[in-house]
Amino acid sequence: MQVDYLIVGQGICGTLLSWFLHKEEKTFLVIDETKNDTASKVAAGIINPVTGRRYVYSWMIDEVMPFSHNTYVQFGKHLDSEFISQKSIIDFFPSVQMRDAFITRIIEDDRYLNTYPDQNYFNQFFNYHFGCGEIKPAYLVNMQLMMASWRNYLLQNQSLQSHNLNLQDLKLHHDFIEYNGITAKAIIFCDGVAAMNNPWFNMLPFAVNKGEALIIESEGLTNEHIFKKGLILSPLPVKNTYWVGSNYQWEFENEEPSSKFYEHATQLLNRWLKSPYKVLFHHATVRPATVERRPFVGMHPHMHNVGILNGMGTKGASLAPFFAHQLAQHLVYGFPLAPEADISRFSRILSREKN
Ligand SMILES: Cc1cc2nc3c(=O)[nH]c(=O)nc-3n(C[C@H](O)[C@H](O)[C@H](O)COP(=O)(O)OP(=O)(O)OC[C@H]3O[C@@H](n4cnc5c(N)ncnc54)[C@H](O)[C@@H]3O)c2cc1C
Repeated sequence: MQVDYLIVGQGICGTLLSWFLHKEEKTFLVIDETKNDTASKVAAGIINPVTGRRYVYSWMIDEVMPFSHNTYVQFGKHLDSEFISQKSIIDFFPSVQMRDAFITRIIEDDRYLNTYPDQNYFNQFFNYHFGCGEIKPAYLVNMQLMMASWRNYLLQNQSLQSHNLNLQDLKLHHDFIEYNGITAKAIIFCDGVAAMNNPWFNMLPFAVNKGEALIIESEGLTNEHIFKKGLILSPLPVKNTYWVGSNYQWEFENEEPSSKFYEHATQLLNRWLKSPYKVLFHHATVRPATVERRPFVGMHPHMHNVGILNGMGTKGASLAPFFAHQLAQHLVYGFPLAPEADISRFSRILSREKN
């Protein structure tokens, strides 16, 4: 079998890179092992234009948010589905200080922040004491549906194989790569946290962290918005079900769901929600985050047919469309990559061998 590109991994990065290459009429094969709790499968899929306690606008948000929105709409049309919906985020302030910080930010720049007109409206669903603000627009991406729909499409077109790509079987030649009878111009790794064990990219400054989420069922909530108070509560496509998460653990013994998170989340929900709820599932996985909070995109500076699309951290839903498109344009037309994301910035590090 001969293709233009071999793509390893079908999380959000591999999905969107293969979509953009498909649009460019390039041939490819995606190899993805079937794993349940990957980052893209556990994620809520929220695009939040605001980051952190100071309500700073997320990196490149004015550019990446409209681009992502358009990508998900087009992609959905192609697969006869809808992958994105607009949902504002209602942020319940945990303290007077946080309320003041929100108002200060609105005075400075109100592009994505609003005071919510009826401060008591959500009293019917939640307990809260310091009011709420609204982050708008924000979006909810149904990453699970999108990846499953694309997987089916690729399987029907013999463009996806479900197994673990064994790096031992990969042979790199001067102008092509070879893997188990498949030849391609280049191999692109979209392998998420597995990149930590990838001999070409394990020297990159990853700062992976574990995150957990609960899936709950409750009849007394609303799916009009995404809600935030310590944790995020976000509506799921199945009626009366919600995603609740998450946390950030930089040191962890394993990738399994922990009783610590479960207790923390349920205690918070017990105080926050006015209606009863039932926990249906508890998920945990590791985010492919990076030390400088910028993605890893591009071709290995010393191996011109080995590439990467990774390091989306907490922002896969908004950053992956933009950088998957950039990488596809780079592969097909040689267009430049954003210097902040281009892995050529680690040229020296990548020339070293990891011990
Ligand atoms: C709890 C939690 C909540 C999150 N919520 C959000 C959110 O609301 N919004 C947001 O924007 N981001 C969120 N994120 C972050 C987001 O999930 C990640 O940025 C994104 O999913 C990373 O996608 P990826 O494609 O790089 O990796 P992954 O999703 O991990 O995909 C990698 C794929 O490669 C496959 N693979 C790896 N090695 C091999 C191999 N050798 N052979 C074959 N297949 C291989 C894996 O099986 C997997 O399918 C969240 C993350 C977590 C953990």
